[in-house]
Amino acid sequence: MRSVDVVIVGAGPAGIGMAMELGKIPGLDFGVLESNRIGESFVRWPAQTRLITPSFHSNPFGLADLNAVDAATSPAIFAGAEHLSGRQYAEYLESVAQAAQLPIACGCKVLNVEPHVDGGFYLNTELGELFTRFLIWACGEYQFPDLSPFPGGQLCQHYAHIEDWQILESGPYIVIGGYESGLDAAINLVKLGHQVRLLVRRATWDLPNETDPSLVLSPYTRARLHEMESNDKLEIVYDASVIEVTQNADHSFRVHTADGRHWDVEQQPILGTGFLKGGGARQIKDLWMWDDDGHIVLSEVDESIMTPGLFLVGPQVRHDQRIYCFIYKFRQRFARIALQIAQRLQLDTEWLEGAGDGVWGPFGNSECCEGCEC
Ligand SMILES: Cc1cc2nc3c(=O)[nH]c(=O)nc-3n(C[C@H](O)[C@H](O)[C@H](O)COP(=O)(O)OP(=O)(O)OC[C@H]3O[C@@H](n4cnc5c(N)ncnc54)[C@H](O)[C@@H]3O)c2cc1C
Repeated sequence: MRSVDVVIVGAGPAGIGMAMELGKIPGLDFGVLESNRIGESFVRWPAQTRLITPSFHSNPFGLADLNAVDAATSPAIFAGAEHLSGRQYAEYLESVAQAAQLPIACGCKVLNVEPHVDGGFYLNTELGELFTRFLIWACGEYQFPDLSPFPGGQLCQHYAHIEDWQILESGPYIVIGGYESGLDAAINLVKLGHQVRLLVRRATWDLPNETDPSLVLSPYTRARLHEMESNDKLEIVYDASVIEVTQNADHSFRVHTADGRHWDVEQQPILGTGFLKGGGARQIKDLWMWDDDGHIVLSEVDESIMTPGLFLVGPQVRHDQRIYCFIYKFRQRFARIALQIAQRLQLDTEWLEGAGDGVWGPFGNSECCEGCEC
């Protein structure tokens, strides 16, 4: 059985960015295992979806492109676009991986993880077995949608299962969810000429005391919504807490809210209600400690509290009030994990000089954000 120092599972932005960081450690034997292809989740985005965080080549002036997974690269330069499509972003990840000759095995799903009593992990994969001293889980959320957020959820179509809004039959449609994916669905359907009723609990574009883009609608989507204001094809229903979807005798669907209202629609309602808590980390759910809200409890170096040697990177990482659900947020944790692993393997950590959290820009370092709320 082959044995390595570190395995990263998943080749999305978290896995590729983490691998770029590990690649700086001389003498480290590591690899990335990906069940499909590099950037698979982005390839699966609806064709019309764009990154909401803008890309801009600010790197030479000390501010890395917001969507870069390696501080020397820029998706804006790569794609010549400010808001990349999923495919463009997947191609960017692929180009970063190729240029750095990262050791990646595609088509290699990790099926089972068995921690060893003396440390390390046995991995059972589609391409055979492997032993690793450290394991970094980077399986994201997109491929793990919550298909049943309420009874009857399975009667709906989830945002994550739409390849292209253009191939949907003519509306009207009901879209459930008032954050990025719900709004993206509604905006794209209206643009294609469908009548849309969007059911939201609250207006995430109108939260005056909130600034974190993990909780409020991005400026990009707000601007797109603003353009729709005078479009009578979009109706937004507020205070709509959906509790159930049922099917009528004529096969149409009925969407019920907690306050007793309901709406009928011929086409399957569309869920923009999010992903399973913990996302792909649920594949090895017994190796993590979970809090009462369904989030994973991590050490300050993003290691599992339950299983030493197992680390998490990606949008599921949370520390206190901080939610690392965007690329520009979770990339700040790569160096921290790489340093931990290098130190425990007693490898040279000199490479970290001049790197670390601060490499992402003056406001991107954790010392700055530890004490202040910038
Ligand atoms: C519509 C939408 C728009 C978004 N826009 C933005 C944005 O503008 N800016 C931003 O910063 N973020 C954005 N996000 C969030 C961002 O996409 C995620 O935070 C990011 O994709 C997470 O990266 P990841 O590498 O953790 O996960 P993923 O990109 O999902 O990668 C995980 C990889 O793991 C692989 N995998 C899973 N299980 C296994 C297994 N058992 N074995 C092997 N491989 C496995 C998968 O195939 C996949 O390739 C958006 C999300 C959505 C849904």
